[in-house]
Amino acid sequence: MDEQQTNTESTSLPSDGQSPSSQRGTSGGPEQSLIVHPQTQNSGFFSRFTYHLFAAGFAFLLSPLAFIWPGHSPIDPTNYAERTRRVLKTTPLIDGHNDLPWQLRIELHNRIYDGRVDLNKRLLGHTDLQRMRAGMVGGQFWSVYVHCDVNQQHFEDPSMLRQARQWIVRDTLEQIDVTRRFINEHPQSLQYCDTAACARKAFKSGRISSMVGIEGGHQVGGSIASIRQMYNLGARYITLTHNCDNSFATSASTVAAGGPDGGLSKLGYEAIKEMNRLGMMVDLSHVSHQTMRDVLSVARAPVIFSHSGAYSVTPHLRNVPDDVLRTVKRNGGIVMAVFVNRFLKMKDPDEATIHDVVDHIFHIAEVCGWDCVGVGSDFSGTPYVPIGLEDVSKFPDLVQLLMERGATDEQVRLFAGENILRVWSRIEERAREIQATGEKPVEEEYEGREWHKGMKDSPWMLRGSRQKAIEAGAADKPYMFNVDKEGRHNPAVKEV
Ligand SMILES: [Zn+2]
Repeated sequence: MDEQQTNTESTSLPSDGQSPSSQRGTSGGPEQSLIVHPQTQNSGFFSRFTYHLFAAGFAFLLSPLAFIWPGHSPIDPTNYAERTRRVLKTTPLIDGHNDLPWQLRIELHNRIYDGRVDLNKRLLGHTDLQRMRAGMVGGQFWSVYVHCDVNQQHFEDPSMLRQARQWIVRDTLEQIDVTRRFINEHPQSLQYCDTAACARKAFKSGRISSMVGIEGGHQVGGSIASIRQMYNLGARYITLTHNCDNSFATSASTVAAGGPDGGLSKLGYEAIKEMNRLGMMVDLSHVSHQTMRDVLSVARAPVIFSHSGAYSVTPHLRNVPDDVLRTVKRNGGIVMAVFVNRFLKMKDPDEATIHDVVDHIFHIAEVCGWDCVGVGSDFSGTPYVPIGLEDVSKFPDLVQLLMERGATDEQVRLFAGENILRVWSRIEERAREIQATGEKPVEEEYEGREWHKGMKDSPWMLRGSRQKAIEAGAADKPYMFNVDKEGRHNPAVKEV
């Protein structure tokens, strides 16, 4: 959810005037056509023939097995559609971010059984099961999101209107509930998963693994205990902030609005510690750049960016700067490339195309390595998606274009799903290691947290508690349900 709502085996790239155009002479071409077919840009039969011959021979010499899959015959390496089909049939394409649960909330008020919507049929919007199948989607992190108004700034600030924040955790529970119910409602297509191993298994059984990610730290009410319970309910990542600061961290939107970049808060450090202990993935999309750096300086497990681009390709604060990309490489994390127009082309967002997404992917791969790039669409979370990537059926077009721009099958496999599965597995492994040391759950709280008070006559456990309660103005005794002297309920008897 976001408001506003070439080369060959080497990974150097981006266009947008930042680096030389690819050796295949695609300059000028990519922006005009949705899918580039380099060979068609050469005139005449002979040049096409020699190109194919050269490409096939070159590929054979360099990597003879790259285009052969057990049980399949070798294919023309420039047959990108067939290569894409083969790769995505054997490697799950796992998207890091789709906001369909938000649509279920705002359009259906979470009523999914009354026949108004059939996810098996073609719907409007970006997402339905039919198009996910067409798009060869192998796994999906479903984002559970509750609104975070940029004007609300700091969610746990006691001065903030209670009305604005009091239902956030409830609404998040409802989002998780409706997500799990719609997953369960489609057992032929979807498989709820809370482990990386499950996601692999679901893919093997022909179903789309379906995971839950929470899109904002504000959604746990500033409580580390809530993080634990969200984990128990199946959430496997939390985006540390959405477009507002919270008890844990500063968001990119605050910095964009001219606010200070305070990075991670004291409680935020504790939250990271606990998330690492639990095996809850730390998602750094939406956070400020300083927050990214702070988290990476203390993270004991890889981090993820569920839907972000590269800052040096498009200098939007939602994107990841190069120094952070290099740190993510050392951290073993992943940046899943986002499709939101404004993050792809700040000045002319309406002109963003699938090619811009490819530019971001290649840049992330160049700086961070093909081991740390993935896909995080934000479908159904933004109205503004690039030309050529209009909905969930278009993922294969993106893969084809990566291949046309020089990505190998192996690089594409990493991008599509192997990276996120490896990162997730490593996070699970780190959690097991940390728990094996006997590390206790974190009990820190945010500054200024208010607690309920007892009564004078509470069955206090500790010496001195009663006196403290009296000094704090504690009530005398519990409510006794208007019982009169005769031992009967009597509303006329007024009690506190
Ligand atoms: Zn978002």
